[in-house]
Amino acid sequence: MSKLRLESKVAIITGAASGIGEATARLFVEHGAFVVVADIQDELGHQVAASIGLVKASYRHCDVRDEKQVEETVAYALEKYGTLDIMYSNAGIAGSATGILDLDLEGFDSTMAINVRGMAITIKHAARAMVARKIRGSIICTTSVAASIAGCGSSSYTASKHAILGLIRSACGELGVHGIRVNCVSPFGVATPLSCGIVNLDPSGMEDLTYAISNLKGIVLKARHIGEAALFLASDESAFISGHNLVVDGGFTVVSQNIPPLIKWPQS
Ligand code: NAD
Repeated sequence: MSKLRLESKVAIITGAASGIGEATARLFVEHGAFVVVADIQDELGHQVAASIGLVKASYRHCDVRDEKQVEETVAYALEKYGTLDIMYSNAGIAGSATGILDLDLEGFDSTMAINVRGMAITIKHAARAMVARKIRGSIICTTSVAASIAGCGSSSYTASKHAILGLIRSACGELGVHGIRVNCVSPFGVATPLSCGIVNLDPSGMEDLTYAISNLKGIVLKARHIGEAALFLASDESAFISGHNLVVDGGFTVVSQNIPPLIKWPQS
């Protein structure tokens, strides 16, 4: 197998000016891909693309709430690099932090507009381009551990991340006939502006917090670990995997957080 797992593949990554998207853009290029860094933070996005290298990466302003901008970003990738093999739909927001009793409906709508509607638009236009060109592409979305369990975000964030599972499963069902795979990755807490903003901590405080509540010890979760999961789903190594939610949480969502402190199970 080639060491470069995405040699000459072309990818669009939304939300790639920062955090998980940025780390994934760097990783994809390390593995031979051409990457369109798509975001709304123009200055940062240009800097990220320039620091990766403008032969392999370029920045494109793309607000995922705006269908025309998404369509134009897909057209840009096709025009500049000649194809589109991978859409990594990653842009998301934490949204307003109100609980259900005080639900802020405007905040709910704006969270849905980016986290769900925005992802649906990116899937739509990436899939259209792939179907029209008979590209056996890979579409990946970033959801969250909040797509598996409650208690990891507000009700609007949790609902939005659950909705992404429905989106990718439905798209997987429709697009399989075209050879297009659709999957998602579910990160646990990674120190990024999004997560640090929710808990009001600096990056090292956020990493300490994630480590303290992690099931898996001896390793600190980094954005690159999420990028590695996306790399797997983007590459031919996952050639028969579609409709899958690749949870990157060290087992957090499958282990009760309550029982172990109360009952000491025998250890061998
Ligand atoms: P981040 O804030 O570092 O990056 C998010 C990026 O999305 C930013 O660059 C932002 O400008 C961009 N963005 C926001 N709205 C946009 C829009 N309308 N159109 C285009 N781009 C837009 O945060 P991150 O943690 O890297 O988040 C990436 C994804 O990971 C999100 O979907 C988030 O919900 C998910 N996630 C993050 C964590 C975590 O702990 N960091 C955990 C689970 C899931």
